[in-house]
Amino acid sequence: MRVRVTLECTECKQRNYNTMKNKKNNPDRIELNKYCKFCRKETLHKETK
Ligand SMILES: [Zn+2]
Repeated sequence: MRVRVTLECTECKQRNYNTMKNKKNNPDRIELNKYCKFCRKETLHKETK
């Protein structure tokens, strides 16, 4: 049930992270606060396809 997802910065739309998620635990799109080197600060990153 583990799938690879890409996390995209919601501010600059750069795809900064690849991560794994468990579809059972996270059936919806995940959102994480992560450091974006393009924004040079922590921003909300959302799962993208
Ligand atoms: Zn950014």
